[in-house]
Amino acid sequence: MTKQLDLFSLDYFSLKGKTAIVTGANKGLGQAYAVALAKAGADLFVVSRSGDWEETRTLIAGTGQRAEFFQADLSDRQAVKKIAAECLKAYGRIDILVNNAGTILRSPILSYKEEDWDKVMEVNLHSLYLLSQEAAKVMVEQQSGKIINIASMLSFQGGKFVPPYTASKHAVAGLTKAFANELAEQNIQVNAIAPGYIVTDNTAAIRADEKRNTEILSRIPAGRWADPSDLMGAVVFLASKASDYMNGHILAVDGGWLAR
Ligand code: NAP
Repeated sequence: MTKQLDLFSLDYFSLKGKTAIVTGANKGLGQAYAVALAKAGADLFVVSRSGDWEETRTLIAGTGQRAEFFQADLSDRQAVKKIAAECLKAYGRIDILVNNAGTILRSPILSYKEEDWDKVMEVNLHSLYLLSQEAAKVMVEQQSGKIINIASMLSFQGGKFVPPYTASKHAVAGLTKAFANELAEQNIQVNAIAPGYIVTDNTAAIRADEKRNTEILSRIPAGRWADPSDLMGAVVFLASKASDYMNGHILAVDGGWLAR
């Protein structure tokens, strides 16, 4: 027993020699996840729709880690299916996948447009499923891997005016558990991060609405919106050996929102 305890060290959090795919890493939370993983020693395969990735390139270069960039619209299933193969071509392995890219379209439920429902479900759910499947095939060959999905407070709550966002994020939590159950015995850990309310473009509209902003702030025990940097520790933890016995967990990083 003592021998086992002696094995533990802060090196368990190191990602040296690992390769990580992060989708939507050109800005917001995805950029924070990519920089966090690079700071912990991983090389990055950055996926972006816009290709507007110069800032992320500079930030990763500052860590001394390698970064490769790939442009893909995740609403295009053929493009999604290429991502794992392209990462494999560049690095020869996939150790970590962060399914971060996501979209939100707001409208009252009774007039919610069918095409908007399809757009949100395609990016937030279907692409995550397809990319996880492709990456997991590589991870099974390697007999190791980490998949980190990005859930939401709306993986637990209903919200208002964002029905497909809520449906997709509940499904992300469910899929996290489904993948975790089948892959755990292959030494692949699948977990999710559920961010609370974070200052990014995704939340610009609700932060600009004074009433909604005040309602949200008054409900967060921490008393503030989060900065993307508040999520960096969680992604490194879930990508590292330190979380090797975590499977199918949805880790809320929410300033206490769910505890309220
Ligand atoms: P963001 O700043 O708006 O970033 C969204 C990212 O997703 C961007 O990189 C965007 O690329 C990418 N993306 C959107 N549609 C795409 C598509 N069709 N193909 C490829 N990439 C696409 O928002 P964020 O807050 O960082 O959100 C990141 C993730 O966290 C999302 O899954 C979101 O649901 C989740 N989340 C955010 C919060 C929050 O409070 N901010 C809370 C809970 C969960 P482009 O720049 O090219 O559009």
